[in-house]
Amino acid sequence: MKKDARIFVAGHRGLVGGAIVRCLKADGYTNLFCRTHAELDLTRQDEVDRFFAEEQPEYVFLAAAKVGGIYANSTYPADFIRDNLLIQSNIVDAAFVHATRKLLFLGSSCIYPREAPQPIPEDALLSGPLEPTNESYAVAKIAGIKLCQAMRRQHGFDAISAMPTNLYGPGDNFHPENSHVVPGLMRRFHEAKLADAAEVAVWGTGAPLREFLHVDDLAEALVFLMEHYSDESIVNVGSGVEVSIAELVKTIKRVVGFQGAIRFERPEMDGTPRKLVDSSRLYSMGWKPKHSLEQGLADTYAWFKNNAVG
Ligand code: GDP
Repeated sequence: MKKDARIFVAGHRGLVGGAIVRCLKADGYTNLFCRTHAELDLTRQDEVDRFFAEEQPEYVFLAAAKVGGIYANSTYPADFIRDNLLIQSNIVDAAFVHATRKLLFLGSSCIYPREAPQPIPEDALLSGPLEPTNESYAVAKIAGIKLCQAMRRQHGFDAISAMPTNLYGPGDNFHPENSHVVPGLMRRFHEAKLADAAEVAVWGTGAPLREFLHVDDLAEALVFLMEHYSDESIVNVGSGVEVSIAELVKTIKRVVGFQGAIRFERPEMDGTPRKLVDSSRLYSMGWKPKHSLEQGLADTYAWFKNNAVG
């Protein structure tokens, strides 16, 4: 990828897209194309096609998606499957038709079966039933992976797919209910600290195990893959560090400086019991994450206080 290549980052206002833009700029890429939702509705095929016809992007990072945590996924399943199928089909199709050189599609570790072996290898895809709380999102993402693989096989289109583990970092959505666990709890602990509250409620039992990756580490991995990887096999991107939700909550509480108690409620909200991806394929290519969880959470809290409170 030349430093002046025409690069479209779809979803640049989101957690992942924003981090990709920061990383590309830091690496000296100068010709980035981004469009806000108001400027380009990615669920509209005609708009996406016109954009590609006019701008002729050479490389595409497909980081635009309807995303959310366990509550949002179970409350808005139609939005999660519909919007994601439309966004990804429109972009992959337009990229192929308008001769984009290479496209990177972002999946998610929730595409893997609920009972997959841990750490989850890439070939666990479609080997068993999905976690029901985010099935709509996962089915859309699986369709996106299969679309990219089929486009490579049938047309030789250079589409690759990366599967990040649970992400967090600057630019996340800090909505109190619809967000993922890190930003959701960061906001709740922050507000409880300001209100001098006695306790904070946390969903589930605290027992589920999750792996968390700082989004700036992910962005470096994605740029690395765009530069060096061209194969139909999907690639997991994880930190290799697994924590229980109870441990995570204690760390967030410490980073925020909340002095009160933690109360676990709604045990049915646990979701999948364990989710750790096997990133050995990526590590063997020479990539490694840089952030520790505690440091990454501290950076994220600093960003939240400066940008997202309100
Ligand atoms: P998941 O990995 O797809 O389940 O993504 P989430 O980030 O939504 O949830 C991770 C775990 O954190 C689940 O076990 C949730 O029940 C738990 N959790 C605890 N409190 C919260 C919260 O306030 N928001 C979210 N999203 N999850 C929470």
